[in-house]
Amino acid sequence: MSARVTLKPGRDKSLRQHHPWVFSGALAHVDGAPRPGETVALHASDGTWLAHAAWSPASNIRARVWSFEHDTPIDPAFFAARVRAAVRARSGLLDGRHTGCRLVHAEADGLPGIIADRYGDVVVMQLLTAGAEHWRDTLVAALREATGCSAIYERSDADVRALEGLDVRAGALSGVLPERLELLENGLAYRVDVARGQKTGFFLDQRDNRACIKSLARDRDVLDCFCYTGGFTIAALAGGARSVRAVDSSGAALALARSNLADNGLDGARAEWRDADVFAELRILRDAGLQFDLVILDPPKLAPTAQHAPRAARAYKDLNLLALKLLRPDGLLATFSCSGGVSAELFQKIVAGAALDARADAAIVGRFGASADHPVALNFPEGEYLKGLLVRKNA
Ligand code: SAH
Repeated sequence: MSARVTLKPGRDKSLRQHHPWVFSGALAHVDGAPRPGETVALHASDGTWLAHAAWSPASNIRARVWSFEHDTPIDPAFFAARVRAAVRARSGLLDGRHTGCRLVHAEADGLPGIIADRYGDVVVMQLLTAGAEHWRDTLVAALREATGCSAIYERSDADVRALEGLDVRAGALSGVLPERLELLENGLAYRVDVARGQKTGFFLDQRDNRACIKSLARDRDVLDCFCYTGGFTIAALAGGARSVRAVDSSGAALALARSNLADNGLDGARAEWRDADVFAELRILRDAGLQFDLVILDPPKLAPTAQHAPRAARAYKDLNLLALKLLRPDGLLATFSCSGGVSAELFQKIVAGAALDARADAAIVGRFGASADHPVALNFPEGEYLKGLLVRKNA
């Protein structure tokens, strides 16, 4: 029997709309002593059963729903079915031009706290919550069965695990990593370092946006800020960019970016790599009077939650203002935010403020989001984190 968790009166509304989170302030009482990650039964104050959920005693998000179906047992077969469904939903994506994608995208796949990315024959799993951690062995088996991949690697080393009272953990779970792991995206080759790279090794959510940049890059001088392993830089060069200046503060990422350039047979003379802080580098470029035809801004998550939004807004504005100043007339700015704490609406306002202060007459000519393997569940709009604008600077 699962422990029974009863909500305060009136606090069952979001659950009835199938929002999967329960905050600590919504709880009235807990019958039993559920351990971290155990499945609990959520009940409304009138006693009505609402959902099966994972218990997270250390977190402000105290419970996350596995299922709103009373008769669905939360057992290994449940996870195997959910993982299979998530993998099946991406099956059309892996064709000759793409050998990687996100397989499991947490709440949007009915699996809160669970991320799995596929790179060729390797799956990288990331567990972020007590509930996910509780089912770790089951999830590894489910991923192995659903994908048939030769290796599964764990990268449960994100900061957010601390909020759940979980330590970081990383390492091989099954099989061995190939010495050299390569991903094909839009027909371009990228090396992925799943053991030491950021997140699970690569930013798969930008796949479609890289294809878009490739289509826009011909004969342009490009500035790729926060280039990581060269995702946008390689795409722009393959699309015929005249030059790309790529900036990142991670030397390890830049080393991979360089080898990605060579692996794709691209002309190294068109690329310049800068190991630098973007905020400082943009000022150096401005002071040197350099100008570009296409600027890409893809900073790391500056506002993990809405509380960080005001400070992050200043940083986003600073970046966008400087980028707009560096653009030639008729130039394009592709600007992104992957901060859950900054909505698409707020982001647009920030960019508008930056254009005003840069004295740039500019217009939105396109909008970006995450690729389809990073879906947003309609009952969980918070899952929409990546947004971007394509802005044209008018002459
Ligand atoms: N555009 C990349 C992903 C960017 S991820 C792609 O397509 O793959 C964010 C990157 O910002 C990381 O590589 C990180 O090393 C870098 N970074 C973080 N803060 C930075 C700073 N202040 N200056 C330069 N790079 C920074």
